[in-house]
Amino acid sequence: MELEFHGATDGTTGSCHVLRAGGKSVLLECGLFQGRRDDTYKRNSGFRFAPGDIDAVVLSHAHIDHSGKLPMLVRMGFEGRIHATGATVALAEPMLLDSAMIQLKDAEFLNKRRVLEKVRARREVREDRRRGKQRLSHFRSDDDAPALSVSNPPKREILPLYLEEDVRATLPRFSPHRWGEWFEIGPALRFRLHDAGHILGASWVECEARERGRTVRLCFTGDYGRPQPILRDPVPLEPADILISESTYGDRCHPPTDDTEAQLELAVERLHKRRRGKLLIPAFAVGRTQHILYSLAHILERRKIDDIPVYVDSPLAKRATEIVYRHPECFDEQALARLRRAESGKSRLKVRFTESVDDSKLLNQMPGPMIVVSASGMMESGRILHHLAWGVASPDTEIAVVGYQAHGTLGRRLVDGASEVNILGMLHAVRARITVMNGFSAHADRDGLLQALTPIAAPCKALFLVHGENDQRLPLARTLRERGFARVECPRNSATWKF
Ligand SMILES: [Zn+2]
Repeated sequence: MELEFHGATDGTTGSCHVLRAGGKSVLLECGLFQGRRDDTYKRNSGFRFAPGDIDAVVLSHAHIDHSGKLPMLVRMGFEGRIHATGATVALAEPMLLDSAMIQLKDAEFLNKRRVLEKVRARREVREDRRRGKQRLSHFRSDDDAPALSVSNPPKREILPLYLEEDVRATLPRFSPHRWGEWFEIGPALRFRLHDAGHILGASWVECEARERGRTVRLCFTGDYGRPQPILRDPVPLEPADILISESTYGDRCHPPTDDTEAQLELAVERLHKRRRGKLLIPAFAVGRTQHILYSLAHILERRKIDDIPVYVDSPLAKRATEIVYRHPECFDEQALARLRRAESGKSRLKVRFTESVDDSKLLNQMPGPMIVVSASGMMESGRILHHLAWGVASPDTEIAVVGYQAHGTLGRRLVDGASEVNILGMLHAVRARITVMNGFSAHADRDGLLQALTPIAAPCKALFLVHGENDQRLPLARTLRERGFARVECPRNSATWKF
């Protein structure tokens, strides 16, 4: 058995691990790296292995940082099947189409900025000549022009990583499976998926390979969840020779969910008292948005508030919410009860989904009070950027940060207390109130990971920690060694391990 790690090694995005076992090469996840727009483009534009050599993909869940490079994999020669649960397959279609649209818009944005920078650079040269100044750095062509913007513009034209037609070519490759059902990728290699309690359809992966007359077992956590409203609790992990675990919150504990809902309740109350302005909630369209709506329903009911409209400004979130309702097998009892109440029209939560860009822009002009839930969760793309550009400088805006904010993202800068931020190429002063609500996380925290992993320490020959920044996974590695794991590794990018 051989493992290669090609992403999510000191970071929580771009999950991509190659497993060579039982005579086959299988990709566990094929995720997009997410972060600063320019950095993202560079890090996503290719693979360090030949896509045509991969026999199959096993996908834990539909989040783009786990699935977002699948259309590139297919375009670059992958011809195998992509195995996932039925709910993941259902979510993959709108999510990958949305991702293709974002790639296109990002490329347009970066190219536009490139043109702008060229024009500014030329003007500066002309201005210098007029004043008789000698430029220290002279450049021969436009492409050598120095960057004058806050961050460097791209030197060459940027092409989208993939297009809608690449997504259309990828979708027929999906093979849906039920939790607990074995499927074979070769005569000596089989897999099954188990409920990971993270988002709809999310799984952890169990694998058995026959090699040199013995069976080697591997378990991969994907994104391992926690008991939370709506979804069932994660199924406990099985013992295995090799474990690969996420470590997003390897050194942090979440506040109790009830406390977090209380924080959101206070924010709603502040808005209700103010009678104007907006509560902006940047959220992943899949998973987090539904959880937020679920909590808002509860809060508005308890506070008897029925005059604050809730807008979900994300076409993807609308599709995802519809898909969520079609998979009651993933819900817990309490969620089913609240869902039935919402369907009967008795809930005070009246959600309005905005579909068109024009409807989305109209929200910007409206004084509020209103709650706007919009993607992306890390505030790097999507319609939330327009809401932030309009609202971040106003003290009547409150921004509820309900998800993990990776290094280098706009979300992280706001959480870190930046006094001004660049949004869509313009500088804005930050006067909005920023409230961080960590308890909405759909990831197990340190104690949750220790609880899941410690009971299976004894038979484990090697545990690999991925999907976590080093300040989270290194302390977790130390604790796991103390808890009885013989070998815990924090692999670097492109690292290869043989067993
Ligand atoms: Zn996830």
